[in-house]
Amino acid sequence: MIEYGHFIGGKTVKGTSGRFGDVFQPMTGEVRAKVALASAAEVAAAVANAKAAQPAWGATNPQRRARVLMKFLELAQRDYDKLADCLAREHGKTIADAKGDIQRGLEVVEFACGIPHLMKGEYTEGAGPNIDIYSMRQPLGVVAGITPFNFPAMIPMWKFGPAIACGNAFILKPSERDPGVPLMLAELMLEAGLPAGILNVVNGDKEAVDAILDHRDIMAIGFVGSTPIAEYIYTRGCAAAKRVQCFGGAKNHMIIMPDADMDQAVDALIGAGYGSAGERCMAISVAVPVGKKTADTLIERLIPRVESLKIGPSTSGDADFGPLVTAAHLRKVKDYVALGIEEGAKLKVDGRNFKMQGYENGFYMGGCLFDEVKPGMRIYKEEIFGPVLCVVRAKTYDEGLALATDHEYGNGVAIFTRDGDAARDFAAKVNVGMVGVNVPIPVPLAYYTFGGWKRSGFGDLNQHGPDSVRFYTKTKTVTSRWPSGMKEGAEFVIPTMK
Ligand code: NAD
Repeated sequence: MIEYGHFIGGKTVKGTSGRFGDVFQPMTGEVRAKVALASAAEVAAAVANAKAAQPAWGATNPQRRARVLMKFLELAQRDYDKLADCLAREHGKTIADAKGDIQRGLEVVEFACGIPHLMKGEYTEGAGPNIDIYSMRQPLGVVAGITPFNFPAMIPMWKFGPAIACGNAFILKPSERDPGVPLMLAELMLEAGLPAGILNVVNGDKEAVDAILDHRDIMAIGFVGSTPIAEYIYTRGCAAAKRVQCFGGAKNHMIIMPDADMDQAVDALIGAGYGSAGERCMAISVAVPVGKKTADTLIERLIPRVESLKIGPSTSGDADFGPLVTAAHLRKVKDYVALGIEEGAKLKVDGRNFKMQGYENGFYMGGCLFDEVKPGMRIYKEEIFGPVLCVVRAKTYDEGLALATDHEYGNGVAIFTRDGDAARDFAAKVNVGMVGVNVPIPVPLAYYTFGGWKRSGFGDLNQHGPDSVRFYTKTKTVTSRWPSGMKEGAEFVIPTMK
């Protein structure tokens, strides 16, 4: 069996805490590996390595730093299949989807290769008599990222790519459920020429996270995961005077207007609702058809599509989606389906009894479809994070807009329509961070920023895009007077431009 330790100071090291977690292979249900769960002392060792290595890396010119990332991109291409295989085995998503997970991470590293340009400051010549003002961006020092199970390649790269490009040293605490790929990525960064100690991976659970939150030498924390943990990390991290950004859970709505292209809308819902077994923070989990006719047609068209979804082992090559991440999560999702029935929603497709032949111990379930879900129900209010789509019928556009706007989560949202007026109004008014118009999963590309609103995001800067450089650097502003020797006498009044 594989035993995962940590990656500290450029070396793979065994865990010393004596505590381990199980890493499953969801498609078979077997335990694939043991992962070491770090103690506070192991986190401290990683931080000490990072702190010692960071000044030289921060002083390395940005073009050289970018070249390490470029080399990393090349090595990741070389190892693409190996990475995707490990990812699919530990997460459960299909190989094709695992490749997408890796690719969306690499795209942020590509963006970070522009760091010589991105870190440029500003300059004002002659801001006063012989006075010039300029600003510069400098790294924070040692920073940390705490990441979820559902994108074990993409989200670690969203964090360490920009942070390291900016000249910081990084402590990554990936999900203990699928730690294989994050460790492989760290090894590739070392092979690409990153100095030892600049990227450290500490595996662990709450104990490691709390040690990160309490460590005085960690200047910033970027978190992605569920909302209760996001809130916990945000409040405790801020109380420790760190810079913190936390991205949480979601309940993404898709409004289907009566004039929408129904073929396009149904395809979009099937892909965005059930892809990756619904274990995506940008999955569509709520469909809102506007008007009775739209709703009836939508349900009629969705039922056969949900019933014929192809579920299969992650490595099979032709499945629409694979198993869920763990048996515990599968139970939780099935419990939500039972709750929905109790709450009075109409279960039109029930995938709970799906069994994968030859993989009877795997964590599989089929797609589920609820009609007549009401806003007061828990299956509407809470994130299920499984292949379960809830249809909430709205009478009018305003009702649909209000549903998405009033929901406590505000990660992504979409509208499907042929009416430009409605689309524009929706994009302007909806209280959600990322909006799709005839696009079901509006994850912005790497050079824009990604972030949800309301209880989907805590902190004032988004991840990737220009905000990532702002988050991982501090600005210094220099006011200088040349030539030196100018005699103006002592000034007792605050200088102004009056
Ligand atoms: P999670 O909150 O259980 O875990 C996330 C991280 O927090 C992991 O590294 C985990 O070890 C750590 N953690 C878990 N419990 C902790 C505790 N009690 N104290 C301290 N640390 C703890 O999330 P998950 O199940 O791994 O991921 C799925 C969640 O992530 C979903 O809610 C999904 O919507 C969300 N997500 C959000 C985004 C986004 O950008 N908004 C992206 C991906 C996933």
